[in-house]
Amino acid sequence: MFNLILFGPPGAGKGTQAGKLAGKFGWKHISTGDILREEIKRGTALGLEVKSAMDCGQLVPDELLIEIMESVFLTDNLTKGYVLDGFPRTIHQAEELDKMLNKYGQKVSQVISLEVNEEELVHRLLKRALEQGRKDDTEEVIKNRLLQYHQHTKPLIEYYKAKRVFNEVHGLGTIDDIFKSICSIIVV
Ligand code: AMP
Repeated sequence: MFNLILFGPPGAGKGTQAGKLAGKFGWKHISTGDILREEIKRGTALGLEVKSAMDCGQLVPDELLIEIMESVFLTDNLTKGYVLDGFPRTIHQAEELDKMLNKYGQKVSQVISLEVNEEELVHRLLKRALEQGRKDDTEEVIKNRLLQYHQHTKPLIEYYKAKRVFNEVHGLGTIDDIFKSICSIIVV
């Protein structure tokens, strides 16, 4: 079963492109950010636990994310394939993902990284703050989210390069142009 990790810093356009890919290929779009925001909206115990970390742009502890992903694999119908958006975000999460996939006889099929420069990222995130009113899109929180990306998530590039599943796409241009570039390198 094909699975894709859409990789990149906050503001790179992972959510938008993952949604389009899910539509085109019939894959399930798994966004850990959306899952967590939904937990907060519903006021669940998990939501309460993660709210303060998310509001200030910190990463949520690995163990919680791993539990969430385990339950996604158990309960969601993923037989048509899936695209991961926002997971994994640390080396530990990536290692645990490999273990989970191994249990189902799978491995990561492909990683596509959306490359966008820092200036454009901040510009896009501030614009999104106005349009969507996301609590973690203020300037201070944006800086922290980018810092978290550099410290914890960027090392995954080498992790997946070593596994020979890593690809890059320019994340600048129109949504449709970027989508075409992504589709052109997907090897289903
Ligand atoms: P996103 O919508 O992907 O930008 O995620 C929003 C926020 O949810 C992040 O800033 C983190 O606080 C949290 N989050 C989402 N996915 C993860 C993950 N894989 N590991 C840790 N925290 C996460």
